[in-house]
Amino acid sequence: MKKIGMLKDMIRSAFRQPVTELYPVERRPAAEDFRGMLHWNPEGCTGCALCVKDCPADAIELITIDKAAKRFVIRYHVDRCLFCGQCAYSCRFNCITLSNDEWELADLGRDNYTVLYGEPEDIEQFSLESEPEPDIEPA
Ligand code: SF4
Ligand code: SF4
Repeated sequence: MKKIGMLKDMIRSAFRQPVTELYPVERRPAAEDFRGMLHWNPEGCTGCALCVKDCPADAIELITIDKAAKRFVIRYHVDRCLFCGQCAYSCRFNCITLSNDEWELADLGRDNYTVLYGEPEDIEQFSLESEPEPDIEPA
């Protein structure tokens, strides 16, 4: 009985299209709620630092440029991120999103794993200085 079942499976498989994909030549779009690369939208950010405090991996740092003007820079450590989505959940102003189409993040070095988000002039200032201090030290 078992052998007949196996034979049926073999015949069926011989005529079925393969389910494997020719990745990376063929890429299927990720699910809508897939969690990939973090993006930060400064609009609405109050600098409350909830995203920093709630991140279980110390992957986000908040650097205040001008609190009154609500100008901040976010330093995101891609190589620490667990893609859990807690930061996006914690932010009450929808400043953080996790992209569903940027998920091929492997790299040969670590240089690209530190990403600065903010106004271009603020980011430029950082590239001239040595490591700016975050508002909250990692736990
Ligand atoms: S997705 Fe999770 S691990 Fe990554 S920065 Fe947000 S809270 Fe931290
Ligand atoms: S939780 Fe949202 S509003 Fe608060 S610092 Fe983070 S990004 Fe800004």
